[in-house]
Amino acid sequence: MVEEQLIPRGIVDPATLAAMRKVPRHEFVEDAMRSKAYGDHPLPIGSGQTISQPYIVALMTQVLQLTGKERVLEIGTGSGYQAAVLSQVCDRVYTIERIDSLLVRARKIFDRLRYLNIISRIDDGTTGWADEAPFAGILVTAGGPEIPKPLVDQLSDPGRMVIPVGDQNMQELKLVQKQDGEISIRTIEYVRFVNLIGSYGWSG
Ligand code: SAM
Repeated sequence: MVEEQLIPRGIVDPATLAAMRKVPRHEFVEDAMRSKAYGDHPLPIGSGQTISQPYIVALMTQVLQLTGKERVLEIGTGSGYQAAVLSQVCDRVYTIERIDSLLVRARKIFDRLRYLNIISRIDDGTTGWADEAPFAGILVTAGGPEIPKPLVDQLSDPGRMVIPVGDQNMQELKLVQKQDGEISIRTIEYVRFVNLIGSYGWSG
């Protein structure tokens, strides 16, 4: 996966590559999908949701430019795989999921594999996690029509957020940077994510 899918597409950050080598992706998919776990594609995880393609997980992680000391917020825990990768490259991961059954399953995996620096809760992640803000990195793993204002407000300065924004078929993966009070936004990839549903997302 690392040699064939990630390095040739420009994933070069050593910490990201080490995390992608270390975290056992097959543990985060259903038994029937295990043989496909390291394939170059997303996979269904139940409840109409997906675990993202390995390249997208690595790209979103690399783009945050983490040093290992940061607190990072993830919106859309899903299988828990992206949170586990993040847990290897920052100090603490806060992850929010809106579907109860997915979070229950992900939490069991975090406990079993001893990912002790992941804190999770059920909520509408488009409003962020105000009690724990600010975050040096925010990673949104579902696509919405706009960049949720609460997430921009909860980004530290300096801080980086990566988020898919667009319609329900196709989105631009945006890098939102806060630096000296200024916000800059650029597109880094074209992607297709499941819907971000919530107050600052799609209605359902
Ligand atoms: N990061 C996940 C992984 O590694 O498996 C990928 C998750 S999937 C592409 C996107 C997830 O976002 C789904 O589980 C979905 O339920 C969740 N989601 C959608 N809208 C949300 C919201 N407002 N708050 C929290 N989670 C949300």
